[in-house]
Amino acid sequence: MRIDVSTIKDTKGASVEVQLSEAMGSLSAAGRELTCSGPVDVRAKVTNTGHGAMLVQGRARASLEAACDRCLAPFDLDVVSKFEGHYWKGREDGRPARAYGGDGADGGDELEYHGDFVDIGPEVRENLALAIPIRLVCSEECRGLCPSCGKNLNEGPCDCPAPPGDVRLAGLLDLCRPGRAGDRD
Ligand SMILES: [Zn+2]
Ligand SMILES: [Zn+2]
Repeated sequence: MRIDVSTIKDTKGASVEVQLSEAMGSLSAAGRELTCSGPVDVRAKVTNTGHGAMLVQGRARASLEAACDRCLAPFDLDVVSKFEGHYWKGREDGRPARAYGGDGADGGDELEYHGDFVDIGPEVRENLALAIPIRLVCSEECRGLCPSCGKNLNEGPCDCPAPPGDVRLAGLLDLCRPGRAGDRD
């Protein structure tokens, strides 16, 4: 996922806005691999901030093939992520420019571009993956599966006896009952 910066790379303060749409295969987050159901859409603005640095600010959107954690049904998960990064002009021979990362011991966060193109693919991928929720649910109202018979309760109630919810609720109400009047200080 590359942005052509040839028109702004020699002018400090110049910027260019782009829209990209590119297939990304799949994203992995929290131990699961989710396949993109379409191309990833990106809108980004690149600004030449001087000294060969490019500031990239953008927004990425992906649609992923997910399965609900409650009812197991497949659904489309929309993920939107903002990202921002400074890209420094790398060496023409493509080797890493160690100078930017100090002694090189902890310079892993330095981003680089080479020639006329800034490749934002890795950062878009990383930020989208971070935006994937830990719990995947098809809808906040999803009723899930019956723990006894396994029926999808979104399709209607099952024939299992109702859980003794009112008994537990009575216990909770007992706990919440205003009892002792606490003195403040
Ligand atoms: Zn569900
Ligand atoms: Zn049931």
